[in-house]
Parts: sequence; C-alpha cells; structure tokens
Amino acid sequence: MDRAERALAWIEENGGRLTELSDRIWEFAELGLHEHRSAGLLADALEAAGFRVERGVAGMPTAFVAIWGEGQPAIGFLGEYDALPGVSQKVSPVREELVPGGPGHGCGHNLLGVGALGAVIALKEEMQARGLCGTLRYFGCPAEENFSGKAFMAREGLFEGLDACLTWHPGTLNLVRTGSSLALNSMNVTFYGVASHASGAPHLGRSALDAVELMNVGVNYLREHIPEKARVHYVIRDGGLQPNVVPARASVWYYVRAPERHQVEEVYERVLKCAEGAALMTGTTYEVEFLDGIYNLLPNRALEKVLEEAMGVAGTPRFGEAELDFARRIAESFPPGQKESMIEELPLNEETKDLLRAQVLSDTIVTLREDLPPRGSTDVGDVSWCCPTAQFTTACAALGTPGHSWQFTAQAGMGIGHAGMLAAARVLAQAGLHLLLDQEALERAQAEFRKRTQGRPYRCPIPPEVQPAFHQLA
Ligand SMILES: [Zn+2]
Repeated sequence: MDRAERALAWIEENGGRLTELSDRIWEFAELGLHEHRSAGLLADALEAAGFRVERGVAGMPTAFVAIWGEGQPAIGFLGEYDALPGVSQKVSPVREELVPGGPGHGCGHNLLGVGALGAVIALKEEMQARGLCGTLRYFGCPAEENFSGKAFMAREGLFEGLDACLTWHPGTLNLVRTGSSLALNSMNVTFYGVASHASGAPHLGRSALDAVELMNVGVNYLREHIPEKARVHYVIRDGGLQPNVVPARASVWYYVRAPERHQVEEVYERVLKCAEGAALMTGTTYEVEFLDGIYNLLPNRALEKVLEEAMGVAGTPRFGEAELDFARRIAESFPPGQKESMIEELPLNEETKDLLRAQVLSDTIVTLREDLPPRGSTDVGDVSWCCPTAQFTTACAALGTPGHSWQFTAQAGMGIGHAGMLAAARVLAQAGLHLLLDQEALERAQAEFRKRTQGRPYRCPIPPEVQPAFHQLA
C-alpha cells in the first residue's frame, strides 16, 4: 500500500502544535457533557484547517461534527476529550494532585481527541496533494466515560452514510484491538418514603434508604442467576440526610452490562423487579430514570487488517531517555506483580509476553492470538452497529499502568502520552489513505458488516424522550 508521505510529514512538522493542544485539554480536565473548552478548542482547530464544523449536535453543546471534502468514500474518525473524576495529578511519578479531589485525564482522552484531529488534517493535506475525492468526518464525541455521547449521536443518525469509521485509544500496548465489549444500561432508581423522627416516631416513617438497601440485596442474590459474563454495579447517590430523620428520599445509580444487547434488556427488567419488591416491602414508591444504553462492539476483521498494515507502515511511538526514566519511576508506584499479571492475562504468545516483561515502555507491535475478552463497555459499540468500525491502541503509558488511575493521568500529560498520540495520528492517517485508495478493502469491510448485523438496522437503546444526563454529575 502507498505510504501517506504528505500526511506523515505533516504530523512530523506539526507535532509540537498537536502536543500543545493535548496539553491544554489535559489541563482543562472537563467531565463528560461539560467539556465546553475542550470541544471548543478542537472544533476551532478543525475550522481553522478548513473543515466545515457543526457544533452542538445531537442535543449536546459539546458534541460536534467537522467535515472536509465531498462524495464517497466517506471515512469517519472518532475523537473524545472527557476526563474522569478524582484522578487529578501533576506531571509527576509520585502521587501529587494538580487540583485536590479534581478530575484528570486518567483515560488519556486528551490524547484521543487530538490524535484523531492530527490524522484528519494530515489526511486532508494528503488528499489535496494527490487530488483525491472523498469525505473526512471528524466526530467530536462527548461523555464516553459516563453518558455515552456517541449513542445519542447515533440516535440522530450522525454515523449514517459512512463507508467506515476508525478510532483509537491510549493504552500501554501497540495493538489492533479485536473482540467485543459489553452492552450496557445505566439508570437511577429513586425511592420515596415518609420522613419521621427515627427514634421518637419510627413507626410513622417509611424509609427510602431501606428500599435502596433491600433492592441492592435482591440484586446481589440475582447475580447467581444471570448470564456468566453479565455485570451489575451500583453506587448510592442519596442515602438520606442525617441518622435521626427517616429518609424520605434515597437514590441508587445502576449499571447493567452483558455481552449482548438482549441480555442487558433481560437482566435490566429483573433488576427493576428488585426495585418493585423493595418498594412493596418498605411501603415506598419508586421512579426509574433511564440514563443511557449502549451496544456491544461489533468487530470488523477486514478493517482491523487495514489498521494492522497501517501500523506496520506508520510505526510505533518514539520514546527518549526522559520518557523511559519517567516510566521507570511510575512503575515503582505499582504493587509488586501488577505489570506481570496484566501481561499474563493477555492472549499473546509466550515470546511476546517475554518481550513485554523486559520492556518498561512498549515500542513494538503486538498481535493478539485471539479476541480480547469483553470486560468494559464503550459507546464505540453503537457506532460499530451503524457502519464498519475498528480501533487500535498505542502505548501512551508504561506497561502495567491501569486505566483510570493517577499514573495514567500523569503520563497523558507528558512525553510518553505525546509520543503515543503522534503514533496514533500516523496510523489513522495511513489507514485513512488506504481506505480512500482501495475500494476493495472498503467492500470487504462492508460485506463483513452486513454479515454480522444480518441486515438489521441500528435501533438506539435510548428511548427518544431521554435526554443526555447533564444533571447527573453537575
Ligand atoms: Zn477511555
């Protein structure tokens, strides 16, 4: 396949600018649905590069689409930029909060959004230099971590008409991902009881907190009788005000996950039965607020092959001594055996595992022996039911770094994350050029997509009246 000379050179020349953008988003560290400055910065940069930008799409002020070019093929690129609560951290290999108790980029989405942005601008340069037809669409996707921005965008039909969609995620390995993710429903259940003096007149009270606790007990018994890979978790958001007042209101936030959408729906109904039972037991009433729902990821081997080839051409992150030194010091903060057990769990051959055991930062491409087991959930799942979709990771953190940790935040704000991000931009640009030039590769991806979806159209799991949960973490 042709090397994307112009695009790769553009990324090389503009590495400093891209790094600066990602550092600014790292500092903003805005939570999902509230990424106003981060989304604005990315949208402005794309507009300045000649893209037509539509802001505030799908009812979310921080969602946008930036388009360049026209006609087919139309290739999509996904960008994210939301941070996580509680993982604020300075660029330091020991725990030092930047903002005490504040959010941080513990999943590296500051890199994610800018890496994809670098790729589309570079690809635009390549298309202009070659006089190529086609459309590039960059999707500014809010709230991956909490409220599934892409599912709301999919509900609006924003991913329709794409021939393929590519994305990446910061990780500790350079790897084309394959396998699925868990479908999910997220909801609040709020119980309403009667307040009264908890000691003076307890018999007059009806405790909403009792209902939350009994619902949770019911769900904890239910666990044994749901599909093996299903997951249910909750946090109590409101458990009353003080012990001498019987709580008249209490609220619990649930996730229900499973490998298939229909399994989520079945388990979800049974979890709601636990709420009904708890209300009956306690003489309370309850309300369910559906927050969001997403699909499991539909892999696309044909597109994954394109990414593999692109990674071979574009190369892995280039780390210097400063990065290696920082990574060694970060690794000192891990409990013994953490890195080794993370390597052990991966479906890799022994030779690759040995190689990784000897590395601190990975600058080699690794290939999975089989699918990664589905563990987490991602709203990329919904995109993958709208058009052929594939993703990869690059090393943006030391081996053994857990996601959603302060160690990840630290590395996402310095040279390690920058090197991983620039490598990702190169891979996306190279893969994008491949898809623009190779009609057959696109047809293979489309054929596989049709086979996997069996022609079923995407039906968003979020009911039409449900709005993004702007209030939930505000
Ligand atoms: Zn993430």
